Amino acid sequence: MSYTVLARRYRSNTFAELVGQKAIATTLANALDSGRIAHAFLFTGVRGVGKTSAARILAKSLNCLEANEPTSKPCLKCSSCTAVHVGEDIDVIEIDGASNNKVEDVHELRGNAIYRPNRSRFKIYIIDEVHMLSNSAFNALLKILEEPPGHVKFIFATTEPQKIPATILSRCQRYDFRTISQADIAAHLQRILKGEKLAAEPEALAQIARLAAGSMRDALSILDQLLSVNQKKLTSKQVEQTLGMPHFRQVLELVGGVAAGDVRAALDGLDKLIELGHSLEQIVNAAIGHCRSLMLLLSCGEKTELVAAGGDNRQALIEQTAGLDVATIVFFISVLEELSRAMRFSSSARALCEAGLVRLAGRERFISTEAIIALLESAQSPQSSTSRANRGASQKPKAVQSQTSKTERANLVPKKRASKEAVEASKRNPLVSKTVELFNGVIMEVSKNHSEDSSGLNHG
Ligand SMILES: [Zn+2]
Repeated sequence: MSYTVLARRYRSNTFAELVGQKAIATTLANALDSGRIAHAFLFTGVRGVGKTSAARILAKSLNCLEANEPTSKPCLKCSSCTAVHVGEDIDVIEIDGASNNKVEDVHELRGNAIYRPNRSRFKIYIIDEVHMLSNSAFNALLKILEEPPGHVKFIFATTEPQKIPATILSRCQRYDFRTISQADIAAHLQRILKGEKLAAEPEALAQIARLAAGSMRDALSILDQLLSVNQKKLTSKQVEQTLGMPHFRQVLELVGGVAAGDVRAALDGLDKLIELGHSLEQIVNAAIGHCRSLMLLLSCGEKTELVAAGGDNRQALIEQTAGLDVATIVFFISVLEELSRAMRFSSSARALCEAGLVRLAGRERFISTEAIIALLESAQSPQSSTSRANRGASQKPKAVQSQTSKTERANLVPKKRASKEAVEASKRNPLVSKTVELFNGVIMEVSKNHSEDSSGLNHG
């Protein structure tokens, strides 16, 4: 028996079924019921958010043979409704703009459009990826849009509306499709699995929704891939294994090592993940995703819906946030992001990755470098003044200071060493000299704060 992909089998059939596009569904349905129907519609949005489904629903609504006029509730049973649903109706012509982008193609369309529809109310042209049309093709299209025959409707779909000429845009009623929320995607996947008589761990669905990044089609193709392995219940472990994602627990350990300042644990964690066959890119991306969850839990509270993880995984994340603050996590994310980009162009990506983890785990020793950069940046800006530079500089180390443990707080030796290097550099460059002056002032401030109050910073 041949297998039809889920995206086709579960394509939304009515406006009510259109996932994550409630506003658009309501507006279109109202337009249909009130009889104020445009000649041309433009559906924009990233791939997999329901543009084609909405176009077919609209076509069914316009042409349903059971109704006397356009309706927001097509019967879904007549020969027109069923043919449109699968994209095979004689009066609803679907055209791929990417491969039919020449002026001759539009001339042919115009030649055919003058003939009345075969059996339906309207002859409907659905042109996908319409932005791919050539300039001359757009000009030809404009001619028919200016004076369309009464029996013709156009539905254009595009991922790149900015490439469509203004003359065309102004003749279309435009609908901007949103990316679909993770919660909506997960809920839809749940409905589909129910239809397939399969169960799934909520965490597994959340993972798929996260990977799909707002595209239902992507979510469904991931689900297709997962269901090809015969199993009664879809588990989070299976999602990780099938898609080659690093296991949550291992990423937890890796980030835990970094957070605790345990360089060895961090490097061992990395090695373990590599041994399991994960690419460095996957590992760093998983670490970024993990840190994002920590950041959101710290910023928005433990119950936030922005974090998809549930059950034990969520509890483990919450436990990991203890002893961390938002500034530290933001620092982790920015370094990891930088690392992920740098690794792509490096022939020694593993060493780079390890160096990145060492930098994060031993972050106190790198504070001085960060501060120098901050000072250099503020000193270079044209409006820079001493007070501004001081402010900017004293904020940055403060964020990092709060991670410093009590024993490490007393240890300012590496910072002094760094400032000595900077003094050497200052002999060559007056800008650096000024910076070093400021920087030394900051160090004094920091040292004073350390001896006066070691707890205040954590809460500040
Ligand atoms: Zn019908």
